[in-house]
Amino acid sequence: MELAEPLEYVCVQCRRHEAVDDALVSTCRQCGDEMRNVDLVTD
Ligand SMILES: [Zn+2]
Repeated sequence: MELAEPLEYVCVQCRRHEAVDDALVSTCRQCGDEMRNVDLVTD
C-alpha cells in the first residue's frame, strides 16, 4: 500500500499556494506563471 503524499507548490509570481497529489502541476491556475515545490523555494 502506498500513500500519496500531497506536495505543496507555490507560484513564483503571485505566491499562490496549492497542494497537489501529483507532480504534473507546474503552472499557476491564477496567473499562469511557474509553480515550484515549496521545499525547493529558498527565498
Ligand atoms: Zn500565480
